[in-house]
Amino acid sequence: MTIWANTSPAIYFSTSVALKNGIRYVCDPDFHMMNSSMNLVDIASKYILLQPSRKALKGKCPFHKDETTSLLIIPQSNVFKCFGCGAEGGPMEFLMRIENKNRTKVIADIAEKTFPK
Ligand SMILES: [Zn+2]
Repeated sequence: MTIWANTSPAIYFSTSVALKNGIRYVCDPDFHMMNSSMNLVDIASKYILLQPSRKALKGKCPFHKDETTSLLIIPQSNVFKCFGCGAEGGPMEFLMRIENKNRTKVIADIAEKTFPK
């Protein structure tokens, strides 16, 4: 388990905040845990238009110059896969790629939205 001290900028996340000696800590900000606590369809649909396709959703991949709809999102598994450029992952990977941020920055931004100052 990784414990990050409540340093500045404050990093909070709703499902993983614990109190220790009156200080709020983020406990185990595990990548997969964060992935599973976010809805990929909600996130992706802010950036791209998604169309239903059988049990999945498809859309133009934002990670390469996509003339067709190469990006597939499987809501049941909360994952995406592009058959054009090979991009794949969950909500965290999507956010990291589309906003060109590293993992720490993505977590910090989510935390800021979850716990506005
Ligand atoms: Zn692609």
